[in-house]
Amino acid sequence: MEDRYTRALEGQLKQCSEDLAKLRKEVEKYNLILEEINLFYCEMDLEGRILFFNSPFCTALGYTREEIKELTCGKLMDNPSRDQFSTALNHVCRTGLPRRRIDYVLLRKNGSVLHTETSIFLMTDAKRRPLGYRILFQDITRRKQAEELVKKLAFQDTLTGLPNRRLFHDRLVLALTQAKRNRERFAVMMIDLDRFKEVNDTQGHYVGDLLIQAVGQRLTNLLRKGDTVARIGGDEFILLLPSLGRIENADRIAEKIVNAFNESFLLDDHRIRITPSIGIAVYPEHGDNLDILLKNSDIAMYAAKDSGRNTFQYYRRKENRQGTPKMQPKNRFTR
Ligand code: GH3
Ligand code: MG
Repeated sequence: MEDRYTRALEGQLKQCSEDLAKLRKEVEKYNLILEEINLFYCEMDLEGRILFFNSPFCTALGYTREEIKELTCGKLMDNPSRDQFSTALNHVCRTGLPRRRIDYVLLRKNGSVLHTETSIFLMTDAKRRPLGYRILFQDITRRKQAEELVKKLAFQDTLTGLPNRRLFHDRLVLALTQAKRNRERFAVMMIDLDRFKEVNDTQGHYVGDLLIQAVGQRLTNLLRKGDTVARIGGDEFILLLPSLGRIENADRIAEKIVNAFNESFLLDDHRIRITPSIGIAVYPEHGDNLDILLKNSDIAMYAAKDSGRNTFQYYRRKENRQGTPKMQPKNRFTR
């Protein structure tokens, strides 16, 4: 009787240790997956303390395991993400439902940014009372960087880094809406460099490129923060000057630009002089919509070329161009 009891006990013990070995293998397998997987995993309690995490989590963030244990997930995020994360945690805790694939920005120990797509799941006890959260972060930094680059390329001139035609167009739409609402003036200035081809021909295309970059920089330095300098083609720049005030202020700015070109450009040991021709169209006097303002600033620029270059001209209606330009401010650069 005792023997039978002992044998049954031994049998149960054997079964238990076999089950335990199986369980250990399972745990090892999942640990391995957790360490090898290309995801950052952590568990935190309801107060936000990090209780458990995989190695990729601390490696990616640049912290040691000990350092991570002293932190909360919130402290690892930038400000906007921290607020959104806190809202998401509340939601998960309240509803028991996971939040999946939300974009959060984590900050590495060295301050650099790690973009993640994050999913949050609730951990509960046997009675389904909340205990904490399981959090899975997927590193999407490369994808974000690629998206940023595409965006940048779509709106930025690659040679100068200035806004391109498309971005200028968007800013012009905004300026027009704002000017209409506030009954304000703004100016569009078309700038084309004079005899730029000669620079290419005599100094080479590379120096020509450097000159375009330097012109962009000089124009940017001359203007206010809210103004836009865009490059819209070869040697063509366009300026948007919102909240112009009096129409004569455009005179002063154009004059300042022409004067700024009196100083030569020093590029790779080449000292180069170049001059601009500037055409000005002011809203609402020279056009009350986008296309007309652009067209009229272009016409004015060609008028500046025709009148000898290195100068600026306002748009003049055809009848005024031949007749008395009474409504035009005096152009001190027209010879
Ligand atoms: P104008 O006084 O009449 O403006 O004469 P221009 O020689 O400046 O000629 P135009 O403005 O008609 O042409 C600009 C030239 O700029 C045309 C092209 O050879 C050159 N160009 C266009 N894009 C680039 C560029 O990205 N880099 C360089 N270096 N040159 C460019
Ligand atoms: Mg030119």
